[in-house]
Amino acid sequence: MLRFAVLGHPVTHSLSPAIHRHALGSLGLRGVYRALETPLERLPERLEEVRQVYRGVNLTLPLKERAWELLDWVSPEARAIGAVNTVLSAGGCLLGFNTDAPGFLEALKAGGIPLQGPALVLGAGGAARAVAFALRGSGLEVWIWNRTPERAQALAAELGLKAVPLERAKEARLLVNATSVGLHAPEETPLPAELFPEAGAAVDLVYRPLWTRFLREAKAKGLLVQTGLPMLAWQGALALQIWTGLLPDPKGMERAALEALGEAQ
Ligand code: NDP
Repeated sequence: MLRFAVLGHPVTHSLSPAIHRHALGSLGLRGVYRALETPLERLPERLEEVRQVYRGVNLTLPLKERAWELLDWVSPEARAIGAVNTVLSAGGCLLGFNTDAPGFLEALKAGGIPLQGPALVLGAGGAARAVAFALRGSGLEVWIWNRTPERAQALAAELGLKAVPLERAKEARLLVNATSVGLHAPEETPLPAELFPEAGAAVDLVYRPLWTRFLREAKAKGLLVQTGLPMLAWQGALALQIWTGLLPDPKGMERAALEALGEAQ
């Protein structure tokens, strides 16, 4: 029996168990995937448990950016992003990866969202770092805006990108909301409607609610839009591939997430 889990605090509302259980079933793998409440101070002992009895775990807030000094190896991509969201436990070693960045790109590709720059990433937290890293790696011109400008400048300097004022959104061709604005707040948006460009695409990483105000307004402006669920499904599918060598169908995982969200809403 293969054992997997998501570690975080709080983690009770995570969609990861739903999407991974679906994926394990679809691949015909006998396994369990649990949500393990893990405050930061309990992380060292939890990772020892993972080393002994788990095949792999996902990490979510607040552990993503804090776990790597406890791991035996961290991939160069996860190091550059500064966050580990997937840990493989193999032969007594804990190996750290980041599947948010490739998951974001795969989701765009699968959704027919063109990789066109300039891309404006809203936010400078962990998700924004992964998205900016992924888009830069695809050769796009990437701009960063953040509520706290110093964080935008620091991230931009670190990745060789440009920090810009919010008004530059009008010139972007791809907008990504990687802030937490809109989460559980359907009427909140990081971008005033008049700042959307005339053409292009908008992606929201927030998926609670699924149709955020940011996406609704982008759609009304005629932009292509993508919710946060395809990325969620793809980062999970790529994690399962790291753990087992098998890539599940992300579309099925997305449907499982949608069902779980429907139950939760
Ligand atoms: P962090 O806490 O690391 O970062 C939060 C970001 O949101 C910061 O840039 C912060 O700005 C900004 N922010 C918070 N409140 C406001 C506000 N009122 N106005 C403007 N900006 C604000 O979170 P993460 O980066 O980990 O996650 C961001 C979002 O992305 C979350 O909603 C998360 O659920 C989602 N996510 C979705 C994924 C998916 O697969 N779809 C994957 C990962 C994350 P400041 O620096 O000024 O505080």
